[in-house]
Amino acid sequence: MTIAVRSLTKQFGTFTALDNVSLDIKGGSLVALLGPSGSGKTTLLRILSGLERPDSGDLQIDGNDLASQSARQRNVGLVFQHYALFRHLDVFENIAFALRVRKRPKAEVEQRVNELLRLIQLEGHGRRLPSQLSGGQRQRVALARALAARPRVLLLDEPFGALDAQVRAELRSWLRRLHDEIHLTTVFVTHDQDEAFEVADQVVVMNQGRIEQVGSPAEVFESPANDFVMRFLGHVNVLDAQLESGRARVGDVVLDVAHDGSGPGRLYVRPHEVEIIRTQQEGAVPARVLRVTPLNAGLKVELQAPSLGSSLRADVDWERGTALGLRGGDDVFLSLRRARVFESDRRAA
Ligand code: ADP
Ligand code: MG
Repeated sequence: MTIAVRSLTKQFGTFTALDNVSLDIKGGSLVALLGPSGSGKTTLLRILSGLERPDSGDLQIDGNDLASQSARQRNVGLVFQHYALFRHLDVFENIAFALRVRKRPKAEVEQRVNELLRLIQLEGHGRRLPSQLSGGQRQRVALARALAARPRVLLLDEPFGALDAQVRAELRSWLRRLHDEIHLTTVFVTHDQDEAFEVADQVVVMNQGRIEQVGSPAEVFESPANDFVMRFLGHVNVLDAQLESGRARVGDVVLDVAHDGSGPGRLYVRPHEVEIIRTQQEGAVPARVLRVTPLNAGLKVELQAPSLGSSLRADVDWERGTALGLRGGDDVFLSLRRARVFESDRRAA
């Protein structure tokens, strides 16, 4: 099964929410739509669900037109960030809802709901009311409710957005394991890069109603298609440069870069691509440590490099950081292990 999105455009008044968007969603895959707020993720999801109609473009599932089918006919499962459960119904009846509407036999409902309670690890909680559950448990019930009628596609719009960081992290690895178990074609909307990378097979990076890049998490991280994607995937140092074929001049420093353009441009260096060393080496740039902060399993080091005319951030792992014994005010040297240049950015510079 493949869902083919072809040249979808959607305007709200004069505002273009989706601008000629095309995408293939492979059956059984988990695709994340990743982008900043307002980039058109929800609009695309709503069009897939049938809640919204595009102004132009096609939507097909295995070559059959989807646009002419109602939301009900499409049989999609939906979960939103604030998809309130029915407060007066217990967990069991919340999950059973779509089956009751479809007038399924009692025994079948019983069996399906119990199966889903197991799947969301809430066996024995069927008679609780939503108010007696934690936020994370409630979103799992919302997911079970969306799965009850065996949808062809599951559409999730920031489903964990309202939960605190730790519960979010637990739920996203849980969702990934669940997907590996049931292999239901899933489109997952998020503005959180970590979340997209952790759950998805394919990441679709969106910006201003357009798709900037589609690829596996590794492809997108390793080879960002352009400066927007590069900047969106977490902190990056951006240095103004003067490009000459294969080289870039930044302040007083000349660096080798993989490109052959010339003229003004920008260099992008990720914090973990900045190596801090104690003694001068060829090509290393002098810098002063401004501030050292523990971050995840390492240290975030803020630096000032006068010869680059810029401040920079370096991320070093804990062992390396401890070995270096860095403190604010220390004089060190920086080796930029990898600096990228993007074509699109050179024109803008
Ligand atoms: P995202 O989910 O990526 O944050 P949306 O798809 O919700 O983005 O929205 C894209 C843009 O379209 C936003 O700027 C939003 O204000 C606008 N928009 C979305 N829905 C409507 C609507 N029903 N009427 C007017 N503008 C809308
Ligand atoms: Mg949205």
